[in-house]
Amino acid sequence: MHSPDILIIGGGIAGLSAAAALAEDARVIVLEAEEQVGFHSSGRSATMLHYALGDRLIRALTFGSRPFFDNPPPGFGDVPLGARMPVLVHAREDERADLDALEAELSSFAVLERLDAKGVHDLCPLLKPDALYGIADLNGIHLDPHAMLQANLRQLRSRGGALQTGARVASIKCADGLWSVTTEHGDTFAAPILVNAAGAWADRIAQLAGVQPIGLEPKRRTIITFDAPPGTRLEGLPFAKTVGDELYFAPESGRLFASPMDEVPSEPVDAQPDEYEVALAAHRMKERTTVTVDRIHSRWAGLRSFTPDRHPAAGFAHDADGFFWLAGQGGAGLQTSPAMAAIVASLITNAPWPVPDVSPDELSPRRFLRQPA
Ligand SMILES: Cc1cc2nc3c(=O)[nH]c(=O)nc-3n(C[C@H](O)[C@H](O)[C@H](O)COP(=O)(O)OP(=O)(O)OC[C@H]3O[C@@H](n4cnc5c(N)ncnc54)[C@H](O)[C@@H]3O)c2cc1C
Repeated sequence: MHSPDILIIGGGIAGLSAAAALAEDARVIVLEAEEQVGFHSSGRSATMLHYALGDRLIRALTFGSRPFFDNPPPGFGDVPLGARMPVLVHAREDERADLDALEAELSSFAVLERLDAKGVHDLCPLLKPDALYGIADLNGIHLDPHAMLQANLRQLRSRGGALQTGARVASIKCADGLWSVTTEHGDTFAAPILVNAAGAWADRIAQLAGVQPIGLEPKRRTIITFDAPPGTRLEGLPFAKTVGDELYFAPESGRLFASPMDEVPSEPVDAQPDEYEVALAAHRMKERTTVTVDRIHSRWAGLRSFTPDRHPAAGFAHDADGFFWLAGQGGAGLQTSPAMAAIVASLITNAPWPVPDVSPDELSPRRFLRQPA
C-alpha cells in the first residue's frame, strides 16, 4: 500500500503540472494508465499559446500563465518550453465585423497589430487574396508539450513526488477519510485527497468513485501535416486562423499542419482521425489558401473535453470530501496549465489565489450541481 498525501489520476499536462506545484508542500503520487505521459490530449495538440481561443475566462487563465512561459521558474528553465510564433487572425470582407469584435475582446490581453490586405499577405503569403483584414499578435508561443510534460515531471521528482505509469485505476473507494485506489494490476494507493485529472475520462473516474459527474463532453479534433509549396519560407510564417472556427494552419518541423477545427462528440477513447475531417482540412486549405494538399504526410486526432459552460472545473466536489476535480480544459489545457496548477495548489494548500481576474466560484465544480428532483 502506498500512502501519499495527495493522489492524482492522470499523467497529462493537467495532472503533472498540478503535481509539480503540489509537491512543494505535500507527498504526491501521479497514476497514469498509459506507459508514457502525454499519450492522449496533451501529446496531440496544436501546441499554441494564443488569445483567439475561448472567452474572457480562458484568456484570463492564459494571461495568468504567460509569465511562467516568458520566465520559467527555477527548475523549469533548462529546456525551452516553446518558441515565439506570430499569431494571425484573418478575415474576408463578410467576416470583418467578427474580426472587429474579436480585436476589441483581445486588446486587453495582447498587443495587437491591425493589418490591411498587404500586411496580411506580407505576414502570410499563403493566404488567398480575399483575406483582406487581419489582427496579429507577434508574441504568440508555439509550445513544446513534450518539454512541458518533462519539465513538470522533473520538478515533481525533484520535490520528492512520483509518477507511476502503466497504472490504470480500476476501482476507487472512500472510507474513514481516505480515498483508496486500486489499479488494474492490483496495486493499491490511499490518500486523503484524490485529484481527478483524467482528461476525457474524468467523468468515468467520478463514477468509479461514486461522485456526481459534471457532464464532460469529449470532442475530437483532427490535424494533418503536409508539404508546403516548393520555395515557401517556413521561418516567420504565423499560426494563421480564420476569424470563425473554420481553419488554422502553421509551420511545423519543415512542413505545414492544419486543422478544420472540428468538434466531433466522442466517447473517451484513443481518438483516431476520421477520413471526413481529414478531407475537410485539405478542402479548407484549398478554400482559404493558395496551397493544394496533394499528399498528406501524417494525421492524428485528439480529444478536447468541455464542461457544459466550456470553462474548466477546478475545486473540491460538493458531494465527496477530499475528491478534487481538475477537468474540462477544452482546447486550452497546455497554455493555461501554469495558472491552473497554481490555482489547484491554492485551493488545496490555501496558498494565495494566483489569478486575480478569475474567481474560485467561476471554476468550482459546484456550478454543475444537479438539483435533486
Ligand atoms: C487537436 C488539438 C489541438 C489542441 N490545441 C491546443 C493549443 O493550441 N493550445 C492549448 O493550450 N491546448 C490545445 N489543445 C488542448 C490540450 O491538448 C488539452 O486541453 C490538454 O492536453 C488536456 O490535458 P489533460 O491532462 O486534462 O488530458 P490528457 O492529456 O488526456 O491526460 C489525461 C490522462 O489521464 C489518463 N487516465 C485516464 N483514465 C485513467 C485511469 N483510469 N487511470 C489512470 N490514468 C487515467 C489518460 O491516460 C491521460 O494520459 C488541443 C487539443 C487537441 C486534441
